[in-house]
Amino acid sequence: MSKINFAVSRQESVFHNPFQNFERVTQSLEIRTDPLTGHQSVFNTGLEGKAQILFPDTDYTYMAQRAEETVGTCFLCPADWRKNTPAYPEEFLPTGILEHGQAALFPNLFPVAAYHSVIRLGDRHFRKLDELPPDLLADGFTVALEFVRKSVEFDPTMRFPTLNINYMLPAGASLMHPHMQILNSPTPSSHHQMLLEKSRQYKKQNNASYWADLVNAEKSIDQRYIGRTGKAHWITAFAPTGYNEIQAVWPSLQNFLQFSQSDIADLAEGLSHILKTWHTMKLSSFNFACFCAPLTDPVTEDSDFCCFMRIVNRQNVIPHHRTDDYFFQKLLKNELIVNPPEKLALWMKKDFPEK
Ligand SMILES: [Zn+2]
Repeated sequence: MSKINFAVSRQESVFHNPFQNFERVTQSLEIRTDPLTGHQSVFNTGLEGKAQILFPDTDYTYMAQRAEETVGTCFLCPADWRKNTPAYPEEFLPTGILEHGQAALFPNLFPVAAYHSVIRLGDRHFRKLDELPPDLLADGFTVALEFVRKSVEFDPTMRFPTLNINYMLPAGASLMHPHMQILNSPTPSSHHQMLLEKSRQYKKQNNASYWADLVNAEKSIDQRYIGRTGKAHWITAFAPTGYNEIQAVWPSLQNFLQFSQSDIADLAEGLSHILKTWHTMKLSSFNFACFCAPLTDPVTEDSDFCCFMRIVNRQNVIPHHRTDDYFFQKLLKNELIVNPPEKLALWMKKDFPEK
């Protein structure tokens, strides 16, 4: 019997609808509460199949035009891009920047954590979501995790790394050129801290790891469980924090230092599949964040915590796009469900690279 409670409450909203001859209509609302964080997501059944209203299809002509307009000012594009990038001090990183395959890591010019790097992904300025293959993503993750290792070796107080991506302008990316960002900090972000605290509470109350319980519960319910790539279990979020949220959970990997090269390849393969599927849905923008247990204290109070990833779509690339983050999300801290997670899981299962 799962200790995880996937709570749902319902409300109804009644009004006269001008699009239905001013007839009295009742819309049903389903409010889902995340079993760990208490985050609420609201699904209005009237919105089912009407994603276009909130997320119009990507305008690929406009997207290509934006790429052309920005390529000339992109500092990651020129063949001699290495001349324009910041570099780390020699005592920390003798090579200044880190390179692996198609990926290169260097300092962010305006860091938000003591260790904050940008990772250039390949030479191409513009890639649609079906053009981010596993090998490219794996190169990025490889330098990112190497940076985590080096930063915590150099300064053991750097215990809270996160791996992140803003993809395209609506997701907050200032560059169209594909890139990742890795942060390492002596303190966790607000959300990271909440995940750690709630996870400790769960362990105290249930004498079990929330993350292992979550994977087992989702597997047995089999409505949101997509599949697994190696140690990574992929699910659609029960109460998403953004549009089409997918999560990956690694119950057997506590932190990024434990990732092997094949764990990186498995992450890249799962992620590339999600992006390709989103492309078939005419989506073009996303945010990605991956969390882990504190690096230098992984066996005590956070021994139940493990690597955990969230990825959400953002508004599509269209002229004058409307944000998908308004009062409901930004200030009320809730989210809308447009595609039911159970349906999204079915779409994601198609051709999933299970292994
Ligand atoms: Zn570029």
